[in-house]
Amino acid sequence: MCAAGRRRGRRQRALLCAVLLAAWQAAWGQLRYSVPEEMPKGSFVGDVAKDLGLQLPEIRDRRIHILDKGRTQYFALHGKTGHLVTAERIDREQLCRLVEKCVLRCELIVEGQMQVYRIEVEITDINDNAPSFKETELEERMDGGDPARTGTARIRVTVLDANDNAPVFSQAEYTVRVPEDVPVGSALVSVTATDADEGLYGQVKYSLKKVSDLASNIFHLDSESGAITLLESLDFEEGNYYELEVQARDGGQLFDTTKVTITVTDKNDNAPEISVRSALSEISEDTPLGTTVALLHVQDRDSGANGEVRCSIDEGIPFRLEKSFDNYYSVVTARELDREQVSEYNVTVRAADGGSPALQSSAVLALRVLDVNDNAPVFAEERYSARLAENNAAGALVLTVRATDADWGQNARVRYRLAEGRVRGAPLSSYVSVQAETGALYALRSFDYEQLRELQLWVRAEDGGAPALSSNVSVRLLIVDENDNAPQVLYPPPGAAAGSGAAWSGVELAPRRSEAGALVAKVVAVDADAGQNAWLSYELAKATEPGLFRVGLHSGEVRTARSPLARDAARQSLVVLVKDHGRPALSATATLSVVLAESVAELLAELGSAADEAAAPGEPAAGLTRWLVLAVAAVSCLFVAFLLLLLALRLRRWHRQQLLPSDSGALRGVPVSHFVGIDGVRAFLQSYSHDVSLTADSRKSQLRFSAASCCDTLPARPPPDEPAPLLGDEDPAAALPASSAPPSVSFSDHFRP
Ligand code: CA
Ligand code: CA
Ligand code: CA
Ligand code: CA
Ligand code: CA
Ligand code: CA
Ligand code: CA
Ligand code: CA
Repeated sequence: MCAAGRRRGRRQRALLCAVLLAAWQAAWGQLRYSVPEEMPKGSFVGDVAKDLGLQLPEIRDRRIHILDKGRTQYFALHGKTGHLVTAERIDREQLCRLVEKCVLRCELIVEGQMQVYRIEVEITDINDNAPSFKETELEERMDGGDPARTGTARIRVTVLDANDNAPVFSQAEYTVRVPEDVPVGSALVSVTATDADEGLYGQVKYSLKKVSDLASNIFHLDSESGAITLLESLDFEEGNYYELEVQARDGGQLFDTTKVTITVTDKNDNAPEISVRSALSEISEDTPLGTTVALLHVQDRDSGANGEVRCSIDEGIPFRLEKSFDNYYSVVTARELDREQVSEYNVTVRAADGGSPALQSSAVLALRVLDVNDNAPVFAEERYSARLAENNAAGALVLTVRATDADWGQNARVRYRLAEGRVRGAPLSSYVSVQAETGALYALRSFDYEQLRELQLWVRAEDGGAPALSSNVSVRLLIVDENDNAPQVLYPPPGAAAGSGAAWSGVELAPRRSEAGALVAKVVAVDADAGQNAWLSYELAKATEPGLFRVGLHSGEVRTARSPLARDAARQSLVVLVKDHGRPALSATATLSVVLAESVAELLAELGSAADEAAAPGEPAAGLTRWLVLAVAAVSCLFVAFLLLLLALRLRRWHRQQLLPSDSGALRGVPVSHFVGIDGVRAFLQSYSHDVSLTADSRKSQLRFSAASCCDTLPARPPPDEPAPLLGDEDPAAALPASSAPPSVSFSDHFRP
């Protein structure tokens, strides 16, 4: 009862001793407590939570643990109370045999925060050991403890003979130094004592008089020879100095004692120990520099140079080793991490001692780098272009854009979409679409080169990160022309075939006296396509008199191939085939009627007869009507001839007045056919009677001529529907000769000599 009460009192004092001594850094601190030995398991040591300012939920949730320095776990942290408690019964005498002050050290580690607190617990002595005697034959008193305890030994004395000499050791003290790696069984030293007596009284036996349990386990003293041999291997780190008291006793009561001191010297038999106290297994690639990823403790149990440790870390990695405190090292980030370059590290930390040879050890820290969305998608090509033939099917695949993202997972998932835009007033999205997952660009409608030659658009690639990153690429879609337009004949106007009495248009006059090569007419045609598909050529497909006329292959000019002969029919019909150079080629025909006549009268007569022939030739009353018409025509002809004569004279005068003074040569070279074509005559008549004030410029007057000849018989000339200028250099039209550039139709060419 009394002893128990005293023990409680000691415990109270121990509680009061708990004190927080120092905190070197935020992450480094030291607590010092004391606790009596022999306390039952679970006894209170200190209120760690209170002393460190830790919240209790923190202790439960965060993994906070206690690490003992020694081999046995003596302390634990009570999760509910935050108290440091004993985990084992602590026997001071067993732990600290030779040490005056018995201190146990442990560490409290807050995982994930790289925090370590050192805790020192002093084990205070209670007087729980009775003095022990190696020889229980003697009674001795060594015990001043509280409470006082006594040991009892029985003494038996037998006297046989006179014993007047005591044994004497050869040395008062034996000192020996042995390395810790000396083999078991080795004789370390031999003590020798001599006794001058004879017989039993002179027989010396050796014994260890005062020795600890440990030493008696390690050393063996041969009682006969006095040799001290090794029973167990020595360990400098466990014990480096032993003191034995050896007694030499003769057969009587006499003895001598000597002291044997055994000093163990250190050998480098311990490799440095690296223990990872706390370490991250994952780290984000945007972690700031200097972030601690691991906390290591390095220790070498040897002493001196054998225990001096140098630590190193792999080179060429973005981590460095920092000595933090005591034997602690931090592994911190030294450079920016980039998961896209290295996604995993196995950081090897090496420790080597200063022994010879040096011992070393290593620890590997596996660290995975977590992705951050720091890369935008990158298109495989700087810009895209594709060519698509017109008249494509709606839904045709045009091209596929592709972008890659160096990140991982959602941060690397690329989706494509079309940037907003308008084409010819309609949203771009009604022309093309981009498939979000694949980047395939589809045409949503059939394109017409004659309407749209090029489509410029942007495709955006966006990753799935938050926030998302994106990039754009330009896509140029060129519509390629196909030959889907046939040539269109502008002159002679289609449907004005000779012989249809309704129209005199398309009837050309060729004087019978004209020479070979005289220009008779010009076929004018356009083609809405481009390039080869619009490059037109002209050829004579059919003629009343083959060989009389020829057509310029690219000019469309109808010229006499030879001088007309008397036997040539007055009316000649020509069919000109106009063909483009597409594949396959498309074509159109133009029909011309040419009248070979000496004079206008002849022409009119011929035309009259043509009209007659055209007028219902098979009817019974036709004959009479024809004669009547002929009669009227004859009278009319005479009148007209008179008029023409009169006009010819006026014309001559007008000609001189209007043209010769300004540009005397301008009209002389003009083929006479231009002026005697029926359209020309009609036009002239009109212009003369209604508009005598023609301009002095000869070319303009020619244009007026042609305009009259066209407009009179044709509906207004359809606009040539000129396509817009080509945009690309690669357009095939650019390679064509200038004469073939079809959309520009020059009517003045017709009249140019
Ligand atoms: Ca003796
Ligand atoms: Ca050693
Ligand atoms: Ca060592
Ligand atoms: Ca990304
Ligand atoms: Ca990344
Ligand atoms: Ca077309
Ligand atoms: Ca076309
Ligand atoms: Ca064409």
